Amino acid sequence: MVVGAGLVGLSIAWWLLRRGHQVTLLDPSIDGPPPADGGSWAALGVLMAQVFHRSSGRAWRLRQRSHQLWGSWIAQLAAEGLEVPRRQGLLLLAADAAERAHQERLVASRQAQGMPLSLWSDAQLEPLRPWIPAAATTGLHSAADGQLDPPALMAALLTSARRLGLHTLPEAALRLERGGGHGRWRLQTSTGRRLETPWLVLSAGVATATLLASAGQPLALEPVLGQALELELAETPPWVQAPGPPGSGWPGVVVWRGLNLVPRPDLPGGRRCWLGATLEPGARADAAALTRLRHWGEGGPAWLERARVVRQWQGHRCKPSQQPAPVLEQPEAGLLVASGHYRNGVLLAPASAAWVAEQIEASPA
Ligand SMILES: Cc1cc2nc3c(=O)[nH]c(=O)nc-3n(C[C@H](O)[C@H](O)[C@H](O)COP(=O)(O)OP(=O)(O)OC[C@H]3O[C@@H](n4cnc5c(N)ncnc54)[C@H](O)[C@@H]3O)c2cc1C
Repeated sequence: MVVGAGLVGLSIAWWLLRRGHQVTLLDPSIDGPPPADGGSWAALGVLMAQVFHRSSGRAWRLRQRSHQLWGSWIAQLAAEGLEVPRRQGLLLLAADAAERAHQERLVASRQAQGMPLSLWSDAQLEPLRPWIPAAATTGLHSAADGQLDPPALMAALLTSARRLGLHTLPEAALRLERGGGHGRWRLQTSTGRRLETPWLVLSAGVATATLLASAGQPLALEPVLGQALELELAETPPWVQAPGPPGSGWPGVVVWRGLNLVPRPDLPGGRRCWLGATLEPGARADAAALTRLRHWGEGGPAWLERARVVRQWQGHRCKPSQQPAPVLEQPEAGLLVASGHYRNGVLLAPASAAWVAEQIEASPA
């Protein structure tokens, strides 16, 4: 039984089904409008695996694993007729000398590992002007990182999971109780039901902490709000122009001062992009953070001023307060926590699902 049908819970359910397990997915929003604060519906879907600043440790391994799995997951969904475009390419613009020096070290280290990262000089950035901020003089390009559309991804995973026999319950989990025998865990739900399961997986955002607390298991999780914008440009953006020779087109997602510009030529009118996301501790939106975002941080290009805001949204990232993200733990037999993915839940969903399957399959029957 998986609690929470955001991208992480859905990914876990789909992967378990594909591996031959029976799965029930519980979420009050499963068939209705998305939850107001759900992170997965707010995410921009940017995948930053190769540009991660470390080259070893758990976070690095999870990123690498997810990076590989996303390739096979997208291929599997496509084979079922469920196309989710994976947009390749990510350019991190350097704002100062310290950032440039960091990028040089990262590129040297990744090239030694055989990964397709390269430094872009001022001359290489020239064709992108005036579309990038004037203060950006160098950049780091990762051909293998990129972006996936979270709503399309979730729709595809849910359709495929249902074809594989997913059982869904549009209810909220209220509290956990220890059961006996094979029904090791009992879940009280918002309709008064008591459901038993040998394996309970919690992927319910910040509510994961409340559910764990009901079983005497403390976990500190906090919301970090993110706001994002969909913009329609007044002029035709360079990312919709005809592709030239390899390497001459738009570089993909462009990151400036921690804010992502995601080209969305697939959206109505063909002139749109996403811009996001703010990083605001807590659950209340700050107008000043939105204003900064509207200008792509400091020194944003002039075309942004002429662009029209078509849509504005926000959501919560779930951040562990006292340990690194994400939380992938088995606090008691049969109870798995896969939550607290903070800023990288889209990227890390497949590796989290693989971790859950391994815990279940490694356990004596
Ligand atoms: C603005 C923004 C931009 C982001 N951009 C990116 C990005 O570019 N790349 C990236 O990798 N990550 C990004 N993230 C982070 C990413 O969205 C999250 O890490 C990820 O969505 C977490 O997924 P989740 O399934 O764990 O949680 P959520 O998506 O929050 O889903 C939790 C689910 O649990 C359900 N639920 C809650 N309580 C209960 C209960 N009691 N019983 C049953 N169900 C319950 C909710 O209805 C919800 O469906 C972004 C986040 C935000 C907010």
